Amino acid sequence: MPDPTGFLTYGRRLPARRPVPVRITDWREVYPSADDGLIREQATRCMDCGVPFCHHGCPLGNRIPDWNDLVRTGNWAAAIEALHATNNFPEFTGRLCPAPCEAACVLSIGNRGAVTIKQVEVEIVNRAFDRDLVPPRPAAAATGKRVAVVGSGPAGLAAAQQLARVGHAVTVYERDDAIGGLLRYGIPDFKLEKEHIDRRLAQLAAEGVEFRTGVTVGVDVTAAQLRAEYDAVLLACGALAGRDTPTIPGRALRGIHQAMEHLVAANRAVASAAGDRSGGDTPAFVNPVDAAGKHVVIVGGGDTAADCLGVAHRQGALGVHQLDLYPRPPRERDETRDPWPTWPWILREYPAHEEGGERVFAVAVQEFVDDGTGQVRAVRIAEVTVEKRDGQRLVTVIPGTERELPADLVLLAIGFEGTEEQPLLEQFGITRNRRGVVDTDPDWQAAPGVFVAGDMHRGASLIVWAIAEGRAAAAAIHRYLGGSEQLPAPVTPSAQPLAVPAVR
Ligand SMILES: Cc1cc2nc3c(=O)[nH]c(=O)nc-3n(C[C@H](O)[C@H](O)[C@H](O)COP(=O)(O)OP(=O)(O)OC[C@H]3O[C@@H](n4cnc5c(N)ncnc54)[C@H](O)[C@@H]3O)c2cc1C
Ligand code: SF4
Repeated sequence: MPDPTGFLTYGRRLPARRPVPVRITDWREVYPSADDGLIREQATRCMDCGVPFCHHGCPLGNRIPDWNDLVRTGNWAAAIEALHATNNFPEFTGRLCPAPCEAACVLSIGNRGAVTIKQVEVEIVNRAFDRDLVPPRPAAAATGKRVAVVGSGPAGLAAAQQLARVGHAVTVYERDDAIGGLLRYGIPDFKLEKEHIDRRLAQLAAEGVEFRTGVTVGVDVTAAQLRAEYDAVLLACGALAGRDTPTIPGRALRGIHQAMEHLVAANRAVASAAGDRSGGDTPAFVNPVDAAGKHVVIVGGGDTAADCLGVAHRQGALGVHQLDLYPRPPRERDETRDPWPTWPWILREYPAHEEGGERVFAVAVQEFVDDGTGQVRAVRIAEVTVEKRDGQRLVTVIPGTERELPADLVLLAIGFEGTEEQPLLEQFGITRNRRGVVDTDPDWQAAPGVFVAGDMHRGASLIVWAIAEGRAAAAAIHRYLGGSEQLPAPVTPSAQPLAVPAVR
């Protein structure tokens, strides 16, 4: 029985972040580990509601009140079991999830401060790894069936683990030189140190998952070869086609890059400096999109833009502006627009925003300005209003509001247009829909024996959704291969987040 008055005794508290002047000099994570006392206190705030809406907020259906209570009573070993029952990789979600569960927590009604669910989650898994409570769980017997997983992001890895644990021989193909998808080469180290990925990969390898890196399916290995060699194929290739601004004058100037070029290069540079796998014996990686000594303008107001901001400061940018087309959101939930327990439109302030830079809202780029040599020297912006009319976004420039921001480096972080067009699609006989992603039937198949999950199916989304889709697709593959037991399938292909349809 949880403490029914814990939330009255304690307020919401998070551990202190590392001081800004210290953390921008390195690439270590922003949050240090919290002490037991704080985490147990915070878990005590969970009142185990009769109907726990946090479950509905979490696409994985994490059993949040169960593990909160186990933490409250100090039973960390049982807590990790409860957490792993629904989530293969809580060390990723506990660090990186935007926590829709917290928006759905009953304590977030009336701004009492939701339970710090995500923090409790990461502390459980940190302690589990420290105490050797994350052993490999290999299957008792092999089924003799073989599955190829293409793409090693959280969707592919979750599916691979689920399938290996019931006895299928799983091979993960990845075109990069290291496993992890966006966890490895998109998300900066100050949000996720890469040792967390390696630690989990060691577990998967011990469970029998085979990894082949540097292999582009559709190029180095054909779809026909995979079909011949495997009984089922899961495609989890992500949604990495970056949106561009081809019509803005000056787009072709030097110094203008997609955000992902900047982030991937930064991650490679950090790995190389650490003598990691992408460095090793090879010469040190020279970053082609370094912000050191530059005025940086980031176009876009979302998570990817915030990651670029944190990277730019760590690289030594002279100054950073981050541009958002939309007006500054409110600090608190607007109950008439996004009633609890839906995901609210509020100002999201990430640790990167504490570190410097200026956020400029309700502006649109009018021109990238040439320095006379073909290199960008400034970005000309104007204030705008944005409205939705007949389902279309209408952006109107406010006359007389134009101005220039200095810019030697411009990073475009304006979203993704779906999964990349690549030979693998045609070879498997599948196409992208009008959103640029791949539709499946209710059983996650896009073609007979070819399953699709994660961002490649959903569009650019979140790690928690990728893991949920990977788990659900694994359950479908297991059924397809004649497996008798039912694997957990937390979501269906048509599942939607707990949110009011976008009105922006
Ligand atoms: C900069 C950035 C920051 C983010 N931060 C967060 C965050 O803080 N929290 C959060 O929840 N979500 C975040 N996300 C979103 C999250 O990373 C994705 O939703 C998630 O990684 C999707 O997982 P996935 O497995 O579907 O695909 P991905 O992680 O994209 O992995 C797909 C993999 O497939 C590989 N691949 C593609 N084609 C082939 C081929 N033909 N052959 C072999 N391999 C192939 C790719 O190389 C890639 O490694 C972020 C996204 C970005 C871009
Ligand atoms: S995975 Fe995300 S939504 Fe689910 S419990 Fe953890 S933080 Fe909350």
